[in-house]
Amino acid sequence: MTKFSFYRCSVCGAEFAPDEVTYTCPSDGGNLDIVFDYDSLRKEISPDLITTSQEASVWRYLPLLPVDDPGYAGTALHSVGWTPLYTPELLAKEMNLKKLWIKDDGRNPTASFKDRASAIVVARAKEINADVIVTASTGNAGAALAGMAAAANHQAVIFAPKTAPPAKVAQLLVFGSRVFLVDGNYDQAFDLSVEAANEFGWYCRNTGYNPFTAEGKKTAAYEIWEQVIAKQNLKKPLCVFVSVGDGNIISGIHKGFKDLLALGWINQMPRIFGIQSDGSAAIANAFNAGTEVITPVQATTLADSISVDLPRDGLRALRAATETNGAYVKVSDKAILRAIARLGREGIFSEPAAATAYAGLQKAVADGQIMDDDPVLVLITGSGLKDVKAAEQAVKTAPIIEPSLSALRKVMA
Ligand SMILES: *Cc1c(COP(=O)(O)O)cnc(C)c1O
Ligand SMILES: [Zn+2]
Repeated sequence: MTKFSFYRCSVCGAEFAPDEVTYTCPSDGGNLDIVFDYDSLRKEISPDLITTSQEASVWRYLPLLPVDDPGYAGTALHSVGWTPLYTPELLAKEMNLKKLWIKDDGRNPTASFKDRASAIVVARAKEINADVIVTASTGNAGAALAGMAAAANHQAVIFAPKTAPPAKVAQLLVFGSRVFLVDGNYDQAFDLSVEAANEFGWYCRNTGYNPFTAEGKKTAAYEIWEQVIAKQNLKKPLCVFVSVGDGNIISGIHKGFKDLLALGWINQMPRIFGIQSDGSAAIANAFNAGTEVITPVQATTLADSISVDLPRDGLRALRAATETNGAYVKVSDKAILRAIARLGREGIFSEPAAATAYAGLQKAVADGQIMDDDPVLVLITGSGLKDVKAAEQAVKTAPIIEPSLSALRKVMA
């Protein structure tokens, strides 16, 4: 018995039984949506069942997840999600916004949003008796899989570009996964990991390939519903700002809100804004051109977590904005660095790809896309500790001084 009804292809609409396919649509390679029986769910569960839960993790949403509780209570696997929400008044004032929230997903066990996806994929792997889970990653998805697999005593294999930030590679190794650093970019690591999965019979977690990753990522939408939408009497739809690489986070969040709408637990769809670096903007380019055809780019951005030539979940990512009256916004790497520094002055330490969402909000406000009475939530997707080199580029260096008061006086003057 599976907890979901069927898969539906996001390209051709074909439906597949839960045991019929594993990854993408066999005829066109489209990403598969996991579809539930919302009529039954609406009768069986009430919002209270969730909002009164004592479980401070993604597992509070078990009735809406396609997997069962994998166990391992008291481990990192059970502390994914339910991340902090801030109301930074100074930032709101600076941009003339009446309502602004920042949700810090850098505060996950392995310090990125990717833990949400990896937790659900590890649970799925247990259910289908897959011994080895493999993923390609720019770093965070791998660290998340390695960490969640370690917590659940499961084997993981990670392919990452050899240029991945050292902290991310260190996490992979410390969590005890088998690591291969590919002398190539993320896209090449992706293709190799799929070939290796087929060759060696490994279960592949790849973003925008495995349908269960979006099901983990949708839990952020559920938290935004509980932490903001259900508590505030919002007159206008919440505007959610999300940074985008492969497009799986934004697709997952869209899916989460669609679930809530289907259940009747929210009455209006939030507007979803995708933010890309202008050096890696395949989806934003398609949005601006008004087409669903996504043309690959040659990605060059310091925001390594969103540096993607060919987005693996591009179509659904595009629709997350077009179907919710949202938009795509492009920002420069310079603006991303400035955003790191600005968030830092609120006590929020974010890696470049995470600060990208905030840079996007600044741009959207400056361009008049966001009005002062639009309620806004910015999702911070990864911790600044992940990429210290980039953080250093965002700020001035500290002076080195002799250990004396006179030397101190001199540099202070
Ligand atoms: C993966 C990642 C993203 C982008 O997610 P996609 O699903 O690739 O669009 C953004 N920020 C951080 C920190 C990430 O690790
Ligand atoms: Zn299809």
